[in-house]
Amino acid sequence: MGWLGLDDTDSLEGGCTTATFHALLEGLPPGVTAGVPRLVRLWPFAQRRTRGNAALAVELQVDDEDSLMQHLDAWWTKHLEPLDGAFEPSSISERPQSPASPGMMYYSERPDAQYYWEAVRGEVDISSAPLPTKAWGGHGKIGAAAAVSWPGETTTWEAIAWRSTEDTIRQRSIDMNALLEIDGWDGVVLSRDPRNGSGLIAPRGRSPVLFGVRGTSFTAAEAACQHLIGAPETESVSAWRVFQTNQASGDHLSGILSLTVNEVEIHPVRKHAHVHTDGPTLVSYAEGGPVNSLARWLKPGDSIAVAGLFHPDGSLHVERLKVESWVARNRERPLCSSCRVRLKSMGKGQGLRCPSCKARTPDTWLDVPIQPPFIEWVEPPMDARRHLARPLAWEDGISTT
Ligand SMILES: [Zn+2]
Repeated sequence: MGWLGLDDTDSLEGGCTTATFHALLEGLPPGVTAGVPRLVRLWPFAQRRTRGNAALAVELQVDDEDSLMQHLDAWWTKHLEPLDGAFEPSSISERPQSPASPGMMYYSERPDAQYYWEAVRGEVDISSAPLPTKAWGGHGKIGAAAAVSWPGETTTWEAIAWRSTEDTIRQRSIDMNALLEIDGWDGVVLSRDPRNGSGLIAPRGRSPVLFGVRGTSFTAAEAACQHLIGAPETESVSAWRVFQTNQASGDHLSGILSLTVNEVEIHPVRKHAHVHTDGPTLVSYAEGGPVNSLARWLKPGDSIAVAGLFHPDGSLHVERLKVESWVARNRERPLCSSCRVRLKSMGKGQGLRCPSCKARTPDTWLDVPIQPPFIEWVEPPMDARRHLARPLAWEDGISTT
């Protein structure tokens, strides 16, 4: 019994760690039985990362660990080490990528979850990783160790199908009727954007992955995957496999902050908001939809509750936002108590007068009641959420205490 982790194999050839890992599992020698492989997303702001910052792990049932090590040594040298230094195509990346630096870790016993929690919420290095039984390669050892350390408590499943064509630039063909059907199935989640009906299962750009369909159970993901593969308009696939994942776990968020707004800066064209508070500065991009609308609505003095990811620059990138209380935006003169006509100022320090009955009162203002655009918690639209983001609809209730 042992655990194997792998990370950082994405390459210029359009490689993908999931496909590399699938090949490794298919190539395991007789006498080794693999459990359900795990696809583990890590801290999105990690300095070095692969696409989507996902690492892989699997539990292996093995009688002869020595011969397994010999097999993994040979597999490493033949299939994984050659990926070292390969680049991903930059055109599909949202920021410059590092060359692949594959790493693989084997543990005879699964380490505790501490390294996972550090690696999903912040920057980690290899020095604090649990000591492996055997290690191969470079930077990918970090993700490999973190993936093995994932306790798998809050979990979803993703069934990934790989294309049979080598031509990964060619437009993907997925049967949209079948996608529409599985979207209504119990336990199939996050597959279509309810706003515009567009599919969310295909990766953007060059990748051997045809699609990844998500479920709240292994069987839901598996059945949806088989339905899509069997549909007439779906292109042929080379293989598919169900992964257990920490996607939609919310594990990357450490808690809710209660803050008071000091100032709101809005980019005049792109509508990104920087909300300065009595704590960290909050960043909300236009893609955040309702989160961004609410952030832009805020005024100094408003009290908010917020959850998000701390960027290395110290700002908090907002993923969930709620207004707890808010200051008045406008004020107005009161109405005349007898004729219900709006009083008018007589000039500075001169008090107010009713235009109708001419009654006079001291100078006063009333706050105009206002409602925020959203009263409850808001989150970005489905296609703008992080892989790790737990949908608000899945929460039993969010407490600010
Ligand atoms: Zn009056």
